[in-house]
Amino acid sequence: MDIEDWSEFDLDTRAVRAGQHRSAEGEHSEAIFPTSSYVFASAAQAAARFAGTEPGNIYSRFTNPTVRTFQDRLAALEGGEACVATASGMAAIYATCAGLLKSGDHIVSSRSIFGTTTILFSNYLGRFGVETSFVPLADLEAWERAIRPATRLLFVETPSNPLTELVDIRALAELARRKGCLLVVDNCFCTPALQQPLALGADIVIHSATKYLDGQGRCVGGAVVGDRERVGKEVYGFLRTCGPSMSPFNAWVFLKGLETLGLRMRAHCEQAGQLAVWLEAQPEVERVYYPGLASHPQHALAGRQQSGFGGLLSFEVKGGREAAWRVVDATRVMSITANLGDTKTTITHPATTTHGRLTDEQRAAAGISQGLLRVAVGLESVRDLQNDLARGLSA
Ligand SMILES: *Cc1c(COP(=O)(O)O)cnc(C)c1O
Repeated sequence: MDIEDWSEFDLDTRAVRAGQHRSAEGEHSEAIFPTSSYVFASAAQAAARFAGTEPGNIYSRFTNPTVRTFQDRLAALEGGEACVATASGMAAIYATCAGLLKSGDHIVSSRSIFGTTTILFSNYLGRFGVETSFVPLADLEAWERAIRPATRLLFVETPSNPLTELVDIRALAELARRKGCLLVVDNCFCTPALQQPLALGADIVIHSATKYLDGQGRCVGGAVVGDRERVGKEVYGFLRTCGPSMSPFNAWVFLKGLETLGLRMRAHCEQAGQLAVWLEAQPEVERVYYPGLASHPQHALAGRQQSGFGGLLSFEVKGGREAAWRVVDATRVMSITANLGDTKTTITHPATTTHGRLTDEQRAAAGISQGLLRVAVGLESVRDLQNDLARGLSA
């Protein structure tokens, strides 16, 4: 059972099995270890652990067996040498930047990233002398033009939220290598079940485990996956010193989430695909954004880069904000919330929520119209979801 190299096994097997080390009790399901510290057999052993000459647990801000199982399992899924779990997705992004960058360094990031990540880069990292330039996601020439001698890190989310735009990860990784920067991919929307950025040349993968890794909306958590040196030493070193570590309870919930990841992602893709096709046929709908549709401008790239098209779609209704709000308010099944990656379908009006703080010009540049709605398709019956939207569309 104690397999160290999972590379010969398929993703679904790794998701269920990787990282587990049974205790002497022979438990079948992974154990939770709710302990803040660990005891030593002798003064000499304590000294050796603290000196780092003997491996082993000292304190749960550094290591915890349940957290380690989650880390090893996610590393096996992403194909990384090392994984560190964090208290949230934002802690994963911050730990990566704080662990690898210093004052004077420069980041190039795609513009259409998670709003809080934009604030982290602009308002907080900026204070410590790390500057960020934002570029349009799919424009490789803009990425290249934005890179300076001080650029250390390229940061990207693909597909983007809410418009499901993609970037060619392989091409961006090649640019990063040529310019001597690291490519960091926030793989929240695809998860390793649909997209494996490290195999495409990226250096580091970020996760908000809060989304599809849990998949049932229960816990907040995150992770950084990559090589032994940068992630295993540098990012981990920041984490054990500064402290946004994952709790063993949350790690256990995420472990259970990972066991059904492949199954759930296939179902999310299937459901979103069906809903996208149906939406495209509705006369009240102006346009549907979903990489699985032949009408998506990057449908071919999505087919090459991803093994599924994801659970996220957006669409524009005719009639602007009034018509869009009517659709939201007529739903009975979908949850009106900005969260995603849940078995429960969620519906959002980006222009007045996630993108509400932008100026009209910024919103127009980002392609967020007043008629745009985003749906993170869950696992309820597709027929019921269609009826839920049809009520507001035909009102
Ligand atoms: C939610 C999210 C985050 C932040 O994760 P938290 O767990 O909420 O801190 C980062 N990136 C993306 C793409 C997200 O959707």
